[in-house]
Amino acid sequence: MQRAEPQDFARVLSSMCTEPHPAARAAAERFLATNPGDPGTYESVAALEREAVSLLGEVVRLDDPAGYVTSGGTEANVQAVRIARNRARGRTDDPNVVVPESAHFSFTKAADVLDVELRRAPLTDYRADTDAAAELVDSDTVCVVGVAGSTEYGRVDPVATLADLAHDAGALFHVDAAWGGFALPFTDHAWDFADAPVDTMTIDPHKLGQAAVPAGGLLARSPDLLEELAIDTPYLESTSQVTLTGTRSGAGVASSVAAMEALWPDGYRAEFDRAMALAEWFADELDARGYAVVDPVLPLVAADLPADLVAAVRDLGWRVSKTGAGEARFVVMPHVTRGTLRSFLADLDAAA
Ligand SMILES: *Cc1c(COP(=O)(O)O)cnc(C)c1O
Repeated sequence: MQRAEPQDFARVLSSMCTEPHPAARAAAERFLATNPGDPGTYESVAALEREAVSLLGEVVRLDDPAGYVTSGGTEANVQAVRIARNRARGRTDDPNVVVPESAHFSFTKAADVLDVELRRAPLTDYRADTDAAAELVDSDTVCVVGVAGSTEYGRVDPVATLADLAHDAGALFHVDAAWGGFALPFTDHAWDFADAPVDTMTIDPHKLGQAAVPAGGLLARSPDLLEELAIDTPYLESTSQVTLTGTRSGAGVASSVAAMEALWPDGYRAEFDRAMALAEWFADELDARGYAVVDPVLPLVAADLPADLVAAVRDLGWRVSKTGAGEARFVVMPHVTRGTLRSFLADLDAAA
C-alpha cells in the first residue's frame, strides 16, 4: 500500500488552520511524549503551559490570566458554558445561554452535553442584534456570548453592550475569539478584556496563532472562574483538574509558546496586514467579475459564486467551504498568497 501523505496547503482556501510556524513545528515534536494533564509528573510542560497562558493574556490584554491550553475552540467554548452553568447553581435549575445566530456549532454541543437551553439572537448586518439578544435574556440566563471574528463572515459582535446585558442579568459574558484572536489586536475593534468586562474567552493558537494542532485556549479573568471546573483527582500527584480531557497534548502546549514567542506581536501584525490587504484585493477582484461579495472585516471573504463553478474548481483541487447561506467562503490564512489567489481566479475565469 502507498504511504498516505498529508494534503498540500497550496489549494486550501477553506481552512482556519495552517502550516505551523517552523519553531512551533519543532517544539511540537520535542514535546510529543509529554502530558500536561499530569503536571506533577510532566513538570516542564506544565511550566510551559503557564507560559502559554501568560502570553495569551498579553494578546487579549489581561494581566494575571487564569486558563489552560485546550484541545481547541470547541473544548474552550464547552468549558466556558460549563463555568457559567456551575456558577449559577442554586440560582436557576433551568439555565439558558444566549448566543448570536452566528455562533459556532460548538455551542450546540455545549448546550447538549451540559443540558442548557441555547437561545439564538438574530443578527443585523452579520452581528448580534443587541435588542434582540436583550429580549432573550432572563433570570435563568447563565451566559451571554459574543463572537469576535465569526466563523462565516469574520464579524465582531458589540461586546461592551453584550457584556452589560449579561452582567445586568447576573450572568457571565464569554467572547469567542477562536479564530479572530490573533488578528484583532491589530484592528480598531473592541473585543478583548481591556475593551469590555469579559469574564471568559476562547482564543486558539492552532488557528491564526500558527501553532500545531491541537492547541486551543480558554482564558478567565480570575482563578475562581476556572475553579468552577475543578474536580478531585485521587491518583495523580496534583489534587484537582479543571480540564475536560485527561491526558492531552504537550505538543500543542509547547508549540503555542514557540509560535507566540516567535510572532507576538510583530510577526502576527505583519501577517494580519498582509492577509487583510490580500482579502480586500480578492474581494475587489470577485466584485469586478460581477459576483456579490460580503465586505471583508477580517481576512475572510464570502462571495456568491454559482454552485457549478464551485464544483468545477473543486475538481481542480481547490478547497473552498460554504456559508450557511450558500456563499463560497475563503479564509486568507498564512499559507494563502497572492499567487494562490491569482491562480484560483484564473481557474475560476476559465470555468466560467
Ligand atoms: C474554529 C472555531 C471554533 C471551534 O474551534 P475548534 O478548534 O475547531 O474546536 C469555535 N469558534 C469559532 C469562532 C471558530 O472559528
